[in-house]
Amino acid sequence: MPSTTKPAPIWHPSPNFGPRRDGLTPTLIVLHYTAMDSAQAALERLCDPQAEVSAHYLIGSDGMLWQMVREEDRAWHAGAGEWHGQTDINSRSIGIELDNTGAHPFSDLQMATLETLLPQIMSRWAIPPEGLIGHSDMAPGRKSDPGAKFDWQRLERQGLAAKRGTETAPVGISYDNFRTLARAAGFTADVPNETLLSAIRLRYRPWGIGPLAPADFKALSPASRTT
Ligand SMILES: [Zn+2]
Repeated sequence: MPSTTKPAPIWHPSPNFGPRRDGLTPTLIVLHYTAMDSAQAALERLCDPQAEVSAHYLIGSDGMLWQMVREEDRAWHAGAGEWHGQTDINSRSIGIELDNTGAHPFSDLQMATLETLLPQIMSRWAIPPEGLIGHSDMAPGRKSDPGAKFDWQRLERQGLAAKRGTETAPVGISYDNFRTLARAAGFTADVPNETLLSAIRLRYRPWGIGPLAPADFKALSPASRTT
């Protein structure tokens, strides 16, 4: 289980935020990688008014935690996209940037800080494990972070991310059936079949290649969301 010790975030305010719209409060947490060479470089960019991007938190590869935007406010990290049929994800979420280029594994120190931070956010806003998503989940094709190197199953085991299904594939291996399962899991963005498949593989089986296969249905099976 995650430690109950609170990491003290280093307050490094970004000017890039606004009020959440329509009185919305966070119901999602969106994970990102920075795709930059260092946490310092990411911090500068996320606080640069010219860049017009931000996130609530940044976690360095050494586990260092910065906070740039108050959780009450709307940070600019998600952009265009959709999850469970809902848009304006920035108004509905907390954004966490992980210092990683996308090409290498996430360090244990970094994961440990994330695993301490997540339960605190989830408890403050009553966000269930199902509310933790990747940027690529809500913006299939447009975004690919936190990417193939991110260990979702590590978070699933701790109850910090929705558990994946374990059922074998349904009878019909068709994109119609695949899209139905995907929509029920939250992947509602209107994208081509192959783009959707790529996004779902990024989350559940990044080693998957080739055409739609029975294994692609497994993680999305309804059993994954009954517990
Ligand atoms: Zn991102």
